[in-house]
Amino acid sequence: MNVRVRFAPSPTGFLHIGGLRTALYNYLFTRHHGGVFVLRIEDTDQSRYVEGAEQDIVKSLEWVGMTIDEGPNNPGDVGPYRQSERKEMYQEYAKQLIDNGHAYYAFDTTEEIDEMRERLKKSGNPSPSYDSITRQSMKNSLTLPQDEVERRLEAGDEYVIRLKVPRRETVKFEDLIRGIVSFETAGLDDQVLMKSDGMPTYHLANVVDDHTMGITDVIRGEEWLSSAPKHILLYKAFGWEPPTMAHLPLIMSPSGGKLSKRKAESEGIPINTKDYITGNYEPEALVNFLAYLGWSPGDDSEVHSMKELCELFTLDRVSKGGAVFNHKKLMWYNEHYIRETSVEELLPRVKELAESTGLNTKDDAYLSAVISLLHERVSKIDEFVTMGSFFFETPKEYDENALKKWKEDSPGMVSAYKAKIEALADSEFKAETLKSKLEEVVSENEVGFGKVMMPVRIATTGQGFGPDLFPALELIGKEEVLSRIDFALEKLG
Ligand code: GLU
Repeated sequence: MNVRVRFAPSPTGFLHIGGLRTALYNYLFTRHHGGVFVLRIEDTDQSRYVEGAEQDIVKSLEWVGMTIDEGPNNPGDVGPYRQSERKEMYQEYAKQLIDNGHAYYAFDTTEEIDEMRERLKKSGNPSPSYDSITRQSMKNSLTLPQDEVERRLEAGDEYVIRLKVPRRETVKFEDLIRGIVSFETAGLDDQVLMKSDGMPTYHLANVVDDHTMGITDVIRGEEWLSSAPKHILLYKAFGWEPPTMAHLPLIMSPSGGKLSKRKAESEGIPINTKDYITGNYEPEALVNFLAYLGWSPGDDSEVHSMKELCELFTLDRVSKGGAVFNHKKLMWYNEHYIRETSVEELLPRVKELAESTGLNTKDDAYLSAVISLLHERVSKIDEFVTMGSFFFETPKEYDENALKKWKEDSPGMVSAYKAKIEALADSEFKAETLKSKLEEVVSENEVGFGKVMMPVRIATTGQGFGPDLFPALELIGKEEVLSRIDFALEKLG
């Protein structure tokens, strides 16, 4: 059978990083098997619908390089791919369950249901449910006479459709990550399948769609594990073969507990995919990092492209336990991918970033030289701009921490260095020479190298750290270096 998986987000906000991992595991799994990746938008809860969320989801998947084989924008044969456009279908399937005795109409008002729960609580049942016992004393098509049910339906009385959950049954299924999972139906609510507004609940829509869209494998977050028995009951009620299921481990915060929005914020972890896009992360790094967030290929390799991940990925290597989100590790990947990217490829991106902050990057040869000098130092592409701004404009301020290293003898050292390099011809203004001139100042004054190098660095770059100083000075050029030194001597004394 041809593998078909779906990523089925609800468009209730920006795509969460956990959602992106779920999408990725679906994608890797299906590509591994040469299958199809479906995007289905689960938008039946109109009250939680957020304008623009669907576009954000599509954009996020595209950004990391997941190709959607079938979805709202490129439908296949089993559409529509938005649940809100499949309403009639759910009505028909709910009706089918009523006809075969697995579901029923329920006319109870909210007050009547509350009353029932209160009454049962008083008589010692701490968590009363609308179930195989209580349904017998409620207002539904199992208890009311047939003609009254028909009369109510014709009159347009409000109703919901509920699943007739069997009284005492053990529901078992094999989760591809967790092994055999079993649940007791006792205590399970007769799940509402159709709401009074004519919309299906998540459970009905999800099962009907997975079946009618030919989904073979359901891969989703652990938070859906408790819904799985309801789904299995529904498949049974329809007489359909359920897909295989795999519930992914939770993503945990470094300080423990589930990585919630609030936790992520307090720990400096971007939570939505769009934050990684606007934060200038490398998509390949994020993919590589997320792939390892709950999975590993079983050896000590760490760096893999999407293509390699597709080849390596199997569900039996996904862990059951929560996976801790280690932001440092993500930065390690990010740095790695930046190093792997050639200067030519980085050039247009850095240029765009720099120019968006108002920096004039001069010509491409100059910018390429700057990128080469910083290539081994940055861990995110925007650092070419923040760390390298002094290549494009004269520093007006000096870094506070750096100034701690501007000592009493610094002006003297810097002046001595200036005198030496001022005497150089333009053609001699080269890294090697600039270094040997500094060494001359060091030996003439019998001080350590840093005693001269650091104040020169501060004066010419405004910073106490940065790329190799001498090639940087060569690049900045004689006239500009001298004028920066004058400016610093005046400002810092
Ligand atoms: N719409 C659900 C969500 O937002 C889908 C869960 C599932 O994959 O079954 O995650």
